[in-house]
Amino acid sequence: MSQISQSHLLPVFARADVAFERGEGVWLIATNGDRYLDFGSGVAVNALGHVHPYLVKAMTEQLGKVWHVSNLYKMPDGETLARRLCEASFADVAFFANSGAEAVECAIKMARKYQYASGKGERYRIITFEGAFHGRTLATIAAGGQAKYLEGFGPPVAGFDQVPLGDIEAVKKAIGPETAAIMIEPVQGEGGVRAPQPQFFKALRELCDQHGLLLVFDEVQTGMGRTGELFAYKRTGVTPDIMPLAKALGGGFPIGACLATTEAAKGMTAGTHGSTFGGNPLAMAAANAVLDVMLAPGFIEHVQRMSLLLKQKLAGVCDRYPDIVSEVRGEGLLIGLRAVIPAADLSNALRDEKLLTVAAGENVVRMLPPLIVSEAEIDEAVKRIEQTCARLSKATKRGAA
Ligand SMILES: *Cc1c(COP(=O)(O)O)cnc(C)c1O
Repeated sequence: MSQISQSHLLPVFARADVAFERGEGVWLIATNGDRYLDFGSGVAVNALGHVHPYLVKAMTEQLGKVWHVSNLYKMPDGETLARRLCEASFADVAFFANSGAEAVECAIKMARKYQYASGKGERYRIITFEGAFHGRTLATIAAGGQAKYLEGFGPPVAGFDQVPLGDIEAVKKAIGPETAAIMIEPVQGEGGVRAPQPQFFKALRELCDQHGLLLVFDEVQTGMGRTGELFAYKRTGVTPDIMPLAKALGGGFPIGACLATTEAAKGMTAGTHGSTFGGNPLAMAAANAVLDVMLAPGFIEHVQRMSLLLKQKLAGVCDRYPDIVSEVRGEGLLIGLRAVIPAADLSNALRDEKLLTVAAGENVVRMLPPLIVSEAEIDEAVKRIEQTCARLSKATKRGAA
């Protein structure tokens, strides 16, 4: 086994040298038996932790009934999930897909088709923001506009105009006769946990209304309780017209959704869009079970309480180790710890301490614990962060001496 064996996985991920074979709530157990505190949640996916008993029961029941049914037929569980998501949000309709990028693709197509159906087929361009992340398909890398994801993949999909985050004058200048929509993450996750002020979202809403544009909130990462509201748009004081969801929606089972108002969705008629797997019974069972848990009284309040606790404790760590970490940012349990040393080094050092986190833009280490995290588990995580900072701080001082 000591021999280096050739992996047959496409090497597009720089993987850490650890594999997990079991999960228990907020914990992941590695193949060598080591227990890791999971403050990454599979990048904001395992919102109810690992093998939540209620989800296991719902999925086990569904596994014994039926796995896949074509969208050629009625989908009672899909009807139920769509109704519940709409009742819990601004939306009137939902389309089900299998991932975040697919949900965003649906949003892009829907925004363009809305303009077309309104007799304004020349409007197809979408304004997006620097630092954005919308997925890895050809259209969503063009929407995200990051050179490192676009390079070498041929001409970017046309129709995206990018402006600096929070710069309303730049947005105004970017609006032209071909603009169809504005798309933004309520909090940029991959971009480094960057949250514009509520006034910015209000100004975007006003510009959209004034110019006949649609407002798209990409809530693939911020949705499903992550920010201390079921959906992050509720913190902004405005409602979008279209909202892609994914990550936590299935509690670990792949599912994406694109929610919209009836008006915004008016161009999406029979035959205009589709998916083989989208809305399959297993995904519907998973997301309906996730909603059962998240809509129960006290769930969101718990997220808010844990958020406050974790933020306060992390602020203390920043005070004690200013040579390692400088700032706590974010909403709910989408928290960023800005590092002074390279964020990847800090995240790796935390993993050595058996705490899983996710590096992001702007030299930020993201903390995305399962939303069911307890006070004791937050204490344990902060203890490990403190130990890591102490170790790195000594190393930094030795290095400087
Ligand atoms: C993760 C993410 C996506 C892409 O989701 P995938 O399931 O990886 O395709 C899109 N938008 C945002 C905001 C995300 O965080």
